[in-house]
Amino acid sequence: MSEKRPNFIVDAMLGNLAKKLRILGYDSKYFSSIEDDKLIAIAKNEKRIILTKDEQLTKISEKQSVVSVLIRGNDELEQIAQINAKIKLDQFVMDTNNSRCIVCNGILQSIEKYRIIGKVPEGILEREEKFWMCDSCKKIYWEGTHFAKLQEFVNKLNNRLQ
Ligand SMILES: [Zn+2]
Repeated sequence: MSEKRPNFIVDAMLGNLAKKLRILGYDSKYFSSIEDDKLIAIAKNEKRIILTKDEQLTKISEKQSVVSVLIRGNDELEQIAQINAKIKLDQFVMDTNNSRCIVCNGILQSIEKYRIIGKVPEGILEREEKFWMCDSCKKIYWEGTHFAKLQEFVNKLNNRLQ
């Protein structure tokens, strides 16, 4: 993974976009409710790019030399294309080892199956081989059936951004 990957701070109303970016491995802080000046302060301190639907906020942040991207519409594929138009993103790869926790943006660590016995449903334990745990909120992840859907999203995204 490239060291120069951008980190984001995602404004309210863009929770689904934040989740997608986390799955794709982008460090993305999200607040369902936050004041503009706080959001800008975090972006400044942590060198994060602001993603928002609020045009006013993009204007204020640009004045303070904080990079922001104005997001329009509700389609996540188009939203990521809008980010890419301003900040060139790498080719997307679906790799759970690089994913972030969709709940808290924590880092996922690969975890041995025997260590999570009793913590996930038995059927899942039987069916899946690889598991990850969020190092922050301890949520357990496996690739499961949704993985194919995500892979399809990533393929579409790469085609869209070519
Ligand atoms: Zn977490």
